[in-house]
Amino acid sequence: MIYIVLDLEATCWNGKRLAPNEIIEIGAIAINEAGETEGEFNTFVKPSLAPQLSDFCTKLTSITQDMVDDAPLYPAAHQAFLDWIHNFDQEYWLCSWGFYDKSQFKHDCKLHGLDKDWLKKHISVKHQYHKIKPTKRPIGMKGALALEDIKLDGTHHRGIDDARNIAKIFVRYLNEWTFK
Ligand code: AMP
Ligand code: MG
Repeated sequence: MIYIVLDLEATCWNGKRLAPNEIIEIGAIAINEAGETEGEFNTFVKPSLAPQLSDFCTKLTSITQDMVDDAPLYPAAHQAFLDWIHNFDQEYWLCSWGFYDKSQFKHDCKLHGLDKDWLKKHISVKHQYHKIKPTKRPIGMKGALALEDIKLDGTHHRGIDDARNIAKIFVRYLNEWTFK
């Protein structure tokens, strides 16, 4: 079994949406059953519906226009990501902080006419963490890192950095996640 801890960034606006949100970054860490990192995947993605990033989005994510202008469109990024996952030649589970990432992937797959079956094996680390460490309601990644006394490395809202930080929580409770 290989665990793919992932985090997406997407186009966004302050207030009214100018287009449906589209993926602009995929960050992922592959973790084996011993809790060791087997590899990392990171790509920016050029959005199709609204190729111009809002200032709000760049401020939030630190992802600039240049980064997405030079990036592949979703279908090529999707293929590269799936190829990377399949390279491990093992059964995999996708793990993200909440259900947002899965639904955003579904949206972009639908937009580009791509298969969504690969998303079936997914868990929300956020909602399972809530059962391990009960708080009033499920908390954000930043709050969970603080609660765990784990340093937030890198830049919050960058897909690869968020994935690395989520992976630290994932590994800490490696034997407590439920996969079904
Ligand atoms: P995150 O994984 O928390 O960095 O968020 C993933 C994506 O959700 C971001 O790239 C944005 O598209 C959207 N998002 C997150 N936080 C906000 C926010 N405060 N306002 C608008 N969109 C947001
Ligand atoms: Mg993120």
